[in-house]
Amino acid sequence: PYSLGPKISDWDEQRRSWLETNPGFPTTVASGMGGGRRQRVLLVTGSPPGPCDNPMGDHYLLKAIKNKIDYCRLHGMEIVYNLAHLDPEMAGYWSKLPLLRRLMLSHPEVEWIWWMDSDALFTDMAFEVPLERYASHNLVIHGYPDLLFDQNSWIGLNTGSFLIRNCQWSLDLLDAWAPMGPKGPIRDAAGRLLTAKLKGRPAFEADDQSALIYLLVSRRDFWGPKIYIENSYYLHGFWEGLVDRYEEMLGQNHPGLGDERWPFVTHFVGCKPCGSYGDYPVERCLSSMERAFNFADNQVLRLYGFAHPALATPKIRRIRDETADPLNVIDHLDPRAPIVTRR
Ligand code: UDP
Ligand code: MN
Repeated sequence: PYSLGPKISDWDEQRRSWLETNPGFPTTVASGMGGGRRQRVLLVTGSPPGPCDNPMGDHYLLKAIKNKIDYCRLHGMEIVYNLAHLDPEMAGYWSKLPLLRRLMLSHPEVEWIWWMDSDALFTDMAFEVPLERYASHNLVIHGYPDLLFDQNSWIGLNTGSFLIRNCQWSLDLLDAWAPMGPKGPIRDAAGRLLTAKLKGRPAFEADDQSALIYLLVSRRDFWGPKIYIENSYYLHGFWEGLVDRYEEMLGQNHPGLGDERWPFVTHFVGCKPCGSYGDYPVERCLSSMERAFNFADNQVLRLYGFAHPALATPKIRRIRDETADPLNVIDHLDPRAPIVTRR
């Protein structure tokens, strides 16, 4: 049967002893302007090894990675961009599984690995994931328990943006999650099973999201206790209901809320800008991505004294004069500063 690699059963011990002998690689990092420390988080994303079918797809992949680099710089996180299929059998959306395992084993200093799809953008540059809330959980994922457990809906969870702790439990989860992944007859047969079992699922090969949902609903007692199903903010936010409301949010709210008032993440589910077929017209997807990108970019450019006056185009203009005492404005403009000091 398929496996992601040699069975490891003492990762927590291996990791702990490595950390003891490598004090130069602490699992926490300095955080924010308050001078505190927080657990080390590695953001991981990627895209297929070859060019997109449509060159505009590559342009939006570039904007999407720029957006993630900005968020990571502002919040002291490292970032990995993967373009390889580490395991050819796990091509496509399944490629995150071998990648997550590989990164856990190669970066024992990292406490949380945060997977984010290429087609998901940070749209609240000030919001931070409340890690303290997840102290006794190992997987943090956006979802709705009623959709998931009462309806077994295939959109009960979204695997486009989730955090997974670097620990033995997570290696075990990846092992249990992977068997439906191998391309070809296995993935095809598993797709038929998932379509039969999950509400609303169209007929297609097994995908990582459906497989995780199936694993969780069929073995809830075993996996459930360490999985935090988050919906108090948009760790993943479905783009369709959000992108047309950005101007309204700008008028009424402010960054740092992370929920429907100012969504943390806007995810272009069903758009497939890098592929050739999606569920929505490509023009609508690209113009919506442009809006999301500029909405987010304004929160970054503000610190540097510029803004996109309209969300529809990349054009920018200067929003304040240069001064001889530039540090005075930082407290008011930096997305990392406490909300109360910003204006
Ligand atoms: N992905 C990747 N390599 C691939 C295909 C996909 O790294 O060869 C990543 C990419 O970040 C993408 C995510 O996997 O956003 C989910 O893949 P999917 O095909 O579902 O694309 P999406 O629905 O996000 O467009
Ligand atoms: Mn996606």
